[in-house]
Amino acid sequence: MAVMGHVSLVGAGPGDPALLTRRAVARLRSADLVLYDALVDERVLRIARRAQRFFVGKRAGRHAISQTEIQALMIRAARRGRRVVRLKGGDPFVFGRGGEEALALGAAGVPFDVVPGVTSALSAPSLAGIPLTHRGLASAFLVVSGHDEEAFESSIGELRPPGVTLIVLMGFGRRVSLAGRLIDRGWSRGTPAAIVSEASLPQQQVWRGTLDDLAAGRAHVEGDGPALIVVGEVAALALTCNGEQASASARTRRAGL
Ligand code: SAH
Repeated sequence: MAVMGHVSLVGAGPGDPALLTRRAVARLRSADLVLYDALVDERVLRIARRAQRFFVGKRAGRHAISQTEIQALMIRAARRGRRVVRLKGGDPFVFGRGGEEALALGAAGVPFDVVPGVTSALSAPSLAGIPLTHRGLASAFLVVSGHDEEAFESSIGELRPPGVTLIVLMGFGRRVSLAGRLIDRGWSRGTPAAIVSEASLPQQQVWRGTLDDLAAGRAHVEGDGPALIVVGEVAALALTCNGEQASASARTRRAGL
């Protein structure tokens, strides 16, 4: 029987390879097989020089392969002695089904570890100059999925701004009705809102307005890249200094990070 391999559930961050952790880079370099999702940047994949790379994400709304098949594939490869990286956008345990995969690996007796990633939930607002907490404006934040509107509403519960920042993942396509639901629940129409798309990438865009603009369909960003919604007083802030930011990223590029 082959020596048992290993699986790493690795977070790839929001896109820019400079936001990978050092442990993620090490796991990618030593991987034999990389199973990756749709939101993983090509430059991140290239770090896994020796590995066979296999796309297992969603394309045009359809899964390339099912969750059960992904899990079976990881388990089979590890049992054949391979070092597998299961690479996910952001953090593997934030809406990434990483928890299910960890359970399946544990049940199958396959050694695995989790390499946390920089989640888009927290980094996209930061990169747009929006602090999630800010003295006097917000002392808490809630990250929710907008994928299922009923689940969205029950997660919101009795929550009301001001004081709390709401971050909605997987909700861009439903932004009009999600914003409408918040207004119906008593959120003020004037509450600041922002959309951040393709955070950390050169094509990053930020739209700013109010909940009313969102509900009326006045919020737009170009392209069909990943986007999230921020609602709350902090969304009106834009704490970036373009000159400084540009030179910081140029320095990062020069340093090869
Ligand atoms: N595990 C991932 C989230 C997966 S759900 C993480 O921790 O980031 C996918 C959703 O994440 C997208 O619908 C979008 O709302 C958000 N997202 C992912 N990458 C993003 C990016 N670069 N910019 C803005 N939103 C992003």
